[in-house]
This record gives sequence, structure tokens and C-alpha cells, in this order.
Amino acid sequence: MVENHYQLLGVPTSATPEAIRHAYREKAKELHPDLHRSESQELQVAYSNQMSKVSQAYEILSDPTKRSQYDQLISQQLLLNSPAKDEAKVDGHNYSSSKDNCTLCGHAPTEMVNFRYLAGFFLFFKVTRLGGRLCRDCGRNTGREAQNKSLLYGWWGYALPINIFVIILNSRELMRLRLLSSPTAGSKESTTAISKPLPSGRSTFLRPGFTISLIGLVLAISAITHL
Ligand SMILES: [Zn+2]
Repeated sequence: MVENHYQLLGVPTSATPEAIRHAYREKAKELHPDLHRSESQELQVAYSNQMSKVSQAYEILSDPTKRSQYDQLISQQLLLNSPAKDEAKVDGHNYSSSKDNCTLCGHAPTEMVNFRYLAGFFLFFKVTRLGGRLCRDCGRNTGREAQNKSLLYGWWGYALPINIFVIILNSRELMRLRLLSSPTAGSKESTTAISKPLPSGRSTFLRPGFTISLIGLVLAISAITHL
């Protein structure tokens, strides 16, 4: 298994900047090349490789902007590979709110949501699914991103009608999230993928996908009416 940056430094995802700095210093002391000069060449290379991984992890986690981008990245990877055991609830349209915690940040309340985005090109298209039990903010972050991608990349092939379907389904999932209250910390915070909910991000209507789709629609209507 590839370790993520938090695991490399041996800190929980909720670690403060001070805790991250401290963990990095401890690791750096442990892996410093001067301490391993008597080891075999192979081991020295291994220590040096580990040191560069740890430094890269520290560079990202010590910068608030890079850390929040990294949290978003690991969240998306997690949702792409989300366990299938909750699938039945999605396909069975179980809309009831649950006290279960968010898959990503451990906050509550949550809903089981399923977003998709479509990328189409002429005869080819690909639908990507991002699903899981999410709090309002993590859900909005994921759903708005998926919706924007579908609005940008879903129109360019014969799968165009499928994209309309995808957009309607995403809108329905986003509307369900509106019913949830603000996320509050759950009990399992230290074991979650990220320490706090992802930022909700801009509304779908303020993203480029919406503008591009609107322009496309206006052009299509004017082309049809001028036939
Ligand atoms: Zn969350």
C-alpha cells in the first residue's frame, strides 16, 4: 500500500502545523544520511529515498493551501474506490438522514450520495462515479466538481442525451444535501481521511461548465430557429 503524506510523517489528519513540524524533525533525525554511513550502499539509498518522500510530504502539509488541495485529492481517490457495501442503499433510494459519520471527514449528519460525471468525445464516452456517505460540505464539494466536469466535457459526442441524465441525477443529489445541517465533529475524527469538511466551493451556476453549457444552448437554439 502506498502511504499518504500523513502516514509518512506518522501524524493524524487533524494534526496541527506544530505537530507536523515536530513529526518532520523527528523523522529527519531518524533518516539523516550521517547516521547511516556505516550501512550498506543499498540501505543508504533506501534511507535517502525515504528522506526525500518525508521532505515532500512536509513541504505539502506545512503549506495550508497545498495541504487543503492535497486533502481534496485524497478525498477524491477515496470516493472513487469507495466500498460497495452501501451501494444497495443508493440504488434502493434510501433518502433518510443518518447519524453515521462522513466517509471523508467523520462529521455528521450525512447522506449516502452518488455523483457521476461524463466525458464524451465523438463515439466514445466515459462515466466516472464518486460516491459515499458524505456530510453536506464534503458532498457539495464533490458534487459541484462532478457537475462542472459533466457540463464541460459531457456534450462532445453522441452520448449527449446521457449527459442530460447525469446532470439531472447530480442535481437531485445536490438538492438532498441542502436538507442537511452544518457538519459537526463526529467521534472518530482521528481515523478519518481528512480532519475537517472540504470547502463547499462555488455554486455550480458560478462555474465555467455552466457558462459554457448556456452559451452552447443559446447557439443551438439560434441555429435551429434560423434554419
Ligand atoms: Zn465530510
